[in-house]
Amino acid sequence: MEIAQSLQQIQSSYIREILSAACNKNVISLAGGLPDEQAFPIDLMRPTLTQLAEMPNVFQYGATAGYGPLLDFLQHHFALPDSHKVMMCTGSQQGLDLIARAYINPGDTVVMEAPSYLGAMQVFGLVSANIVTVAQNAHGPDLVQLEQCFEQQSPKMFYAVPDFHNPTGVCWSLETRQQVAALCIKYNVAFIEDAPYRELRFSGNPIPLVSDFCPEHSIVLRSFSKIASPGLRLGAVSGKIAFLDPLIKVKQGADLHSSVPMQALLLGLLQHDNFGLHIDKIRALYKTRYQVLFDALQQQLPVTCGMNSVEGGMFIWVTLPECDTFALAKTLLANGVAVVPSPVFYPEAHPAQAALRLNFTNATAEELQEAVRRLTDVLHNTLAV
Ligand code: PMP
Repeated sequence: MEIAQSLQQIQSSYIREILSAACNKNVISLAGGLPDEQAFPIDLMRPTLTQLAEMPNVFQYGATAGYGPLLDFLQHHFALPDSHKVMMCTGSQQGLDLIARAYINPGDTVVMEAPSYLGAMQVFGLVSANIVTVAQNAHGPDLVQLEQCFEQQSPKMFYAVPDFHNPTGVCWSLETRQQVAALCIKYNVAFIEDAPYRELRFSGNPIPLVSDFCPEHSIVLRSFSKIASPGLRLGAVSGKIAFLDPLIKVKQGADLHSSVPMQALLLGLLQHDNFGLHIDKIRALYKTRYQVLFDALQQQLPVTCGMNSVEGGMFIWVTLPECDTFALAKTLLANGVAVVPSPVFYPEAHPAQAALRLNFTNATAEELQEAVRRLTDVLHNTLAV
């Protein structure tokens, strides 16, 4: 049977492939975007896990939008006005897929930063969107390019990760947030704010969502993968009711609803008295690991390489002099360290800045130090000086 045309152009996720190679126990993996298993709040889940055994109703089919008590909690937790609502999805990845399927016709223009989250490029590719990129700088997207793009290409939506971007770790400044929101309003472009790393801020001050400045023009995607656990597969989408209702229709066809027992478990967790402490613990753990990785890189990277400091999230972006980053990633893997080369974060055939994405949340401090030794040995030996 011939596969659909829309799928023929889609590459299988390089990251998922490299992740399986990185399972070899001689390899230290900085390739995935995996939280640490130590950071899963299993103890805080225990009371609800026990209660679930007495709640047969949650094992029944449920509402497509989500488990009612959880939706009520999140409406309040996210401080949503009555004109807005929230729905649950099977990971924020599904939220993204629902948005693409509900709103994108083949050829519709979607703007993204370059580089950008690979999973979003896959989703928009599957609905045959016309993906247009704008460059990203240290504060967020290049605003001149963004306005030109809005003016000349009349995009339907702008998808972005303003908090601790995947892959670069960049966090948009307040001014950039305000200006992007103003441009979305001026040109009537929907802003799709993907915020899975927002709670992982370990230094600096919290900044409002971009959507806070354009609530009528935006949809926010949140994930419970990083603050609870990815295996729960739970995310939430919020926005004005008119934006959300079509997503519910698409979800009915996709999976009827997300797992109700898992949603009940999440609610118990979010309501646990120690959930705030749990988030503080994850932030402290990741801050330490980030600092170990950053310091080791600073001491050992060749001078021709660069990197950014980050205030949260999971990634450091190491920039390199012009080179074949796929070949480099392969050599690194053979030398016991897995990383992700930059071209996978750009649409195909798009020129890519030579860089590597390094994750700091899933390896211990000792492993991070050893990984940097292996990485920088290879870089010193292979990069032109
Ligand atoms: N958006 C971004 C930017 C991501 O990096 C990821 C995955 N790490 C997702 C969405 C999907 O997350 P989830 O586990 O909630 O599906």
